Amino acid sequence: MTHIIHRNPRTPLATAVRGLGSYLIDHEGRRYYDGSGGAAVSCLGHGHPEVADAVIAQIRTLEYAHTSFFTSEPAEQLADTLVRRSPPGLAHVYFLSSGSEAVETALKLARQYHVERGEPGRWRSIARLQSYHGNTLGALAAGGHQGRRRLYQPLLADVTHVSACFPLHYRRPEESDDGYGDRLAHELDTAILEAGPETVSAFIAETVVGATAGAVCAVPGYFRKLREVCDRHGVVFILDEVMSGLGRTGSYHAFEQEGVVPDLLCLAKGLGGGYQPIAAVMAHDRIVDAIAGGSGAFQHGHTYIGHPVACAGALAVQNIIERDGLVQRSATLGRYLQDCLRERLGGHPHVNDIRGRGLFQAVELVQDREGNRVFDPGLQLHARIKRTALARGLLCYPGGGTVDGVRGDHVLLAPPYTTTQEELQSAVDILVASIGAAIA
Ligand code: PMP
Repeated sequence: MTHIIHRNPRTPLATAVRGLGSYLIDHEGRRYYDGSGGAAVSCLGHGHPEVADAVIAQIRTLEYAHTSFFTSEPAEQLADTLVRRSPPGLAHVYFLSSGSEAVETALKLARQYHVERGEPGRWRSIARLQSYHGNTLGALAAGGHQGRRRLYQPLLADVTHVSACFPLHYRRPEESDDGYGDRLAHELDTAILEAGPETVSAFIAETVVGATAGAVCAVPGYFRKLREVCDRHGVVFILDEVMSGLGRTGSYHAFEQEGVVPDLLCLAKGLGGGYQPIAAVMAHDRIVDAIAGGSGAFQHGHTYIGHPVACAGALAVQNIIERDGLVQRSATLGRYLQDCLRERLGGHPHVNDIRGRGLFQAVELVQDREGNRVFDPGLQLHARIKRTALARGLLCYPGGGTVDGVRGDHVLLAPPYTTTQEELQSAVDILVASIGAAIA
């Protein structure tokens, strides 16, 4: 009998007892390849001795200091590291403990920015239908993930959602990439005009869509067009890289591949790499200067922000990523993984798309490629694949999202950047067998 509230009480979970490199080991000694890095978290794999040492050393020296009295050395060094690896202007860091907190903090920073500039009427946020931004009530309102929202409506915040993310070619063969970017930029423009630009605070989007659609990347120029629309209307441009940031997509920040710099950037999973619960919002000078020149202080805070041990662990993770060239490794191994997936699954009758960047890759499944028919949602194909893969020793991250109003199944892979080609190869073998067994 467990006293833990489970995500899904009908599916009993094994107890994880050990993590070693790319593997987790359960209480019965079974080994699982962490092909999803948890949920795109474990960028260094498990049991990295240097991170463990950094965490232990910090606990022995200074475990906690409330941020109303002190900052701490690891927090300062971690902020310096993030700023040094970011474009000029994105020079301020606010630490948090989860991705949801980072998203809500960014939305609050945007609102205070407008208040300080004498525009208190700008309170609305606009997000995309195809998005997940977290599970607290505010972040849940920002995301468009219907399954997560359904039981809790009406949500606290009123967020307008604009169209889906980017084209999935097999679902909208008539849309060219160029046309699609323009159409969505126009849609955002229209949503802002309809709401009244003087009421709109921020627009938030995942740079590469993660949980709801599975590694869906922007068409070229798409984010530049959205940024232009935001700038034209004075709307703060927020990118959520909680899942896709810090090397996951083969560049340190995923936005580096889009030719834009956000006003506010949300980071979390790869920041602590699973060793510590930690998140951050990076803010551009223009946001922080407006607050500094107005009331002077951001009216926000949580008890555990900037926690010294969390920051020490994250600093070790970020230093190792840099020292060991792991962003480049994510890019190179990501190409290898995509090639393996294409080779093994490209001609599969139920696989209609293989996509992603870096070690953030997804396989999209359909009932019938020609007719664009997705599997019956009642089948929960993605969940079946997860179960069959788990039984074969592979952890993958499945999803049954809705893109452009059409629900579909996908499986996301987001292994540690430290993984090897051999490990990826055997993960693909297991995935192929699991897809076959789940569909049969
Ligand atoms: N934003 C994105 C893009 C995410 O993928 C997630 C988590 N999957 C969150 C926000 C929320 O992060 P957390 O679960 O740490 O609150």
